[in-house]
Amino acid sequence: MIQLTTAAKLENAINKARTVKPRVAINKFGHYTVTNKTTGATYTVECVKRDGKRFASCTCKAGMRGNACYHLMAAVSAHLQLAAERAALNF
Ligand SMILES: [Zn+2]
Repeated sequence: MIQLTTAAKLENAINKARTVKPRVAINKFGHYTVTNKTTGATYTVECVKRDGKRFASCTCKAGMRGNACYHLMAAVSAHLQLAAERAALNF
């Protein structure tokens, strides 16, 4: 589980997610399955908010070591969009 802090720290993973463009499927809010379209490998990414801080985890090797991988960033961007839509509908 890594804390999502500054964008600078996550920049490499964000850039890779933009290049690779993995497929992100929503299992439920906060739970995503990320598929590498080239290899077919799938990983589970979980996003949670605790005490106002955002955390995420991925089941790939890098993610298990606590590194921000591109699966994680791809799912996080989908998650933030979903969260914004939910917030917008909650008026
Ligand atoms: Zn990963």
